[in-house]
Amino acid sequence: MAATSESAADATTRRKAGRHRGEGQWAVGHHTPLNGNEQFKKDDDGLNVRTRIETIYSKAGFDSIDPNDLRGRMRWWGLYTQRKPGIDGGKTAILAPEELDDRYFMLRVRIDGGRLTTGQLRVIGEVSQEFARGTADLTDRQNVQYHWIRIEDVPEIWRRLEAVGLSTTEACGDTPRVILGSPVAGIAEDEIIDGTPAIDEIHRRFIGNKDFSNLPRKFKSAVSGSPLLDVVHEINDVAFVGVDHPEHGPGFDLWVGGGLSTNPRIGVRLGAWVPLDEVPDVYGGVIGIFRDYGYRRLRNRARLKFLLADWGAEKFRRVLEEEYLRRPLLDGPAPAAPVEQWRDHVGVHRQKDGAFYVGFAPRVGRVDGTLLVKVAALAEAHGSGRLRTTAEQKMLVLDVPEEQVESLVAGLEALDLRVSPSPFRRGTMACTGIEFCKLAIVETKGRGQSLIDELERRMPDFDQPVTININGCPNACARIQVADIGLKGQLVVDDAGNQVEGFQVHLGGALGLEAGFGRKVRGLKVTSAELPDYVERVLTRFAEQREDGERFAT
Ligand code: SF4
Repeated sequence: MAATSESAADATTRRKAGRHRGEGQWAVGHHTPLNGNEQFKKDDDGLNVRTRIETIYSKAGFDSIDPNDLRGRMRWWGLYTQRKPGIDGGKTAILAPEELDDRYFMLRVRIDGGRLTTGQLRVIGEVSQEFARGTADLTDRQNVQYHWIRIEDVPEIWRRLEAVGLSTTEACGDTPRVILGSPVAGIAEDEIIDGTPAIDEIHRRFIGNKDFSNLPRKFKSAVSGSPLLDVVHEINDVAFVGVDHPEHGPGFDLWVGGGLSTNPRIGVRLGAWVPLDEVPDVYGGVIGIFRDYGYRRLRNRARLKFLLADWGAEKFRRVLEEEYLRRPLLDGPAPAAPVEQWRDHVGVHRQKDGAFYVGFAPRVGRVDGTLLVKVAALAEAHGSGRLRTTAEQKMLVLDVPEEQVESLVAGLEALDLRVSPSPFRRGTMACTGIEFCKLAIVETKGRGQSLIDELERRMPDFDQPVTININGCPNACARIQVADIGLKGQLVVDDAGNQVEGFQVHLGGALGLEAGFGRKVRGLKVTSAELPDYVERVLTRFAEQREDGERFAT
């Protein structure tokens, strides 16, 4: 009997093979679209919608927009419809998409490497003032996000942004999204390697390129040579992390398959060392694997992390080397543990050329067009022409002469942009939330801002690094799973039995070399109104019981 019956291992292999036969992978011959998204992408490349926006929709108005463009292809140019005001979170899941759609758009400006000139920042601010009712949030992927955009104004907005070298190309959609880069690339005293040339070359080869504009889903990437590990490399589809190779010198350690949202996964190292000038080729190989072998049948399995989970790191590296690069990669070391817990570069720091950079913190990335224009003017008045955005919703002014630092800091503080922020202001992030996001269940930005103010008032002596990330729904735009205190928006029942806005609490998540996901505290849900009391209790207990050197997450 034993000789003829199927072993458990064979049965598992067969089940897996059966499960993956129909995943819609192009490389194994599945070119028939298996869902609506794959169909509209096949019908017309997302990048082609630009011509229709310029020649038809911006002239004939919102009602002229093809539904497949409105809720699909417009994302390829950074446009999403925003949530109609006044619809509460209880209706998010039960209303049809068109009932949630406002007639205005969110528009995302991609800022690869977070690099901005003061001239570019001024234009971002002016566009906000003129076309976006002053909105201009700093996102946790170094982008800027506008709201209240009318379709009629989009061509003029593009003209102004592109005139100064900015764009919204593939800022959203199933595309190669913004390439995160170290906010201190090229200037930091402790930099291992400057990844900027690789970011520029990746942008030149892959962004707006129709060979890579129909991916299974979004493709997130990061390049940093900072020892502070400052681009959340752990949760990108591909990341290049600066390391010093004992024989070959500075280069990058290759990570793949990270991502949050459903089935969160920390990226894995492939054990490969990549020199600076080969980073674009390797990026091309990884995005090629994703395009060709990525799962397309189910949207919630269409990120690279699911393919990696099935293949494993060894097979992934083998396919990358044999089918895409056609050469082996060199083995290399892992990054060293960063010496600091904060990775946002806030504060005053000396650059390697002797000038200074000054990092400052608004609250939860909320700034506005008027403020950004003032920041651009302030930076210029203090001898700077460059700024950077961070992956923590913060910003830096670069190249400040030593004698100008004090005055610049005073100017930023006068605008309520803190250079020495409390740990609460420094460590709290919030996603867009119900104010504009159609998927949201609760309000986040205002809640985050008032939480910061309240904690600063109640706990003026608390001085430990802590991250508090607030999401408006079960998605992961504000990275709740990797925060010390992660707050996932949902409806909860208050003491009086009413359904109200609140949060499921996750505790103890972390990034860095000990990266891991926070534990969902069983049954622990707080109403929005109880949030300051709850966070104060958790932090007070931590401060009282903390042992020397202990981090919140440990
Ligand atoms: Fe919207 Fe949810 Fe993302 Fe927040 S986490 S921006 S509510 S999708």
